[in-house]
Amino acid sequence: MLTDYHMHLQPDGAEARARAAHRWEREGGPRSAGWIGHYVDRARARGVAEIAVTEHVHRFRDAAGWHPSPFWREEATEDLTAHCAALAAARDGGLPVLVGIEMDWLPDRVDDIRALLAAHPFDVVLGSVHWLGPLGVDSPDEPAWDALPAEEVWSRYLAELEAAAGSGLFDVLAHPDLPKVFGHRLPAALAPRMDAVVDAIARSGVCVECSSAGLRKPIGELYPDPDLLGRFREAGVPVTLASDAHSPEDVARDYPTAVAALRAAGYETITRFRSREREQVPVRWA
Ligand SMILES: [Zn+2]
Ligand SMILES: [Zn+2]
Repeated sequence: MLTDYHMHLQPDGAEARARAAHRWEREGGPRSAGWIGHYVDRARARGVAEIAVTEHVHRFRDAAGWHPSPFWREEATEDLTAHCAALAAARDGGLPVLVGIEMDWLPDRVDDIRALLAAHPFDVVLGSVHWLGPLGVDSPDEPAWDALPAEEVWSRYLAELEAAAGSGLFDVLAHPDLPKVFGHRLPAALAPRMDAVVDAIARSGVCVECSSAGLRKPIGELYPDPDLLGRFREAGVPVTLASDAHSPEDVARDYPTAVAALRAAGYETITRFRSREREQVPVRWA
């Protein structure tokens, strides 16, 4: 089977949501069975049997004070309990939808993260390093790239990724080579450091995602790139498949490229989750 374990029911940012709102409002809202059904329909049309909705934790009031970024604070408008209940209702009503979340790695919020994850019925939890302290890795606000040289951004990012893996909080590390998003590839001097982080991820037991989202970004390639995916495979790191869609149209987008990369790296299975328990299933088009 194929899955898509990374997507959002709404775009990021109030302006983009306002532009798109007419679409979900005619279905009864962004958490309605009708709107979620559009994501399921697109997945099925692309040969994908199961999806996980993994809204950003920064969308929820529960996490409003976790980060100083104005963007974060402006985004924290939603009710996480109601959100999870709507997804669980869709799942328990027979839609192939899992209750997920894209959880930021914020090292000074570990206790809050653990408590929030324990309080809700998640099937799968993504861990994402979007922030280096106050600086954003992939955000146009407070960009790390304006404040630091590329080698420093990558070096700090890899330290946080390793810490996130070792925290035991997450099931899957999302977009593991995210700092390349705007075109800054890993500096050659840091290649040995990346190897060490891959080994640390393998020891931690956490999965990484193979995400087609990078194909839609300035860098124009999968997260992780095919070489890095091969290194994860050699190290024995399990994988999930992901699109990071922020609209139904992007669910399972570019999966022929992602699935071919998995196979070329030697992966024969992907990881399926339910109630944060995992199993391996063959990589196979429906
Ligand atoms: Zn992300
Ligand atoms: Zn995402």
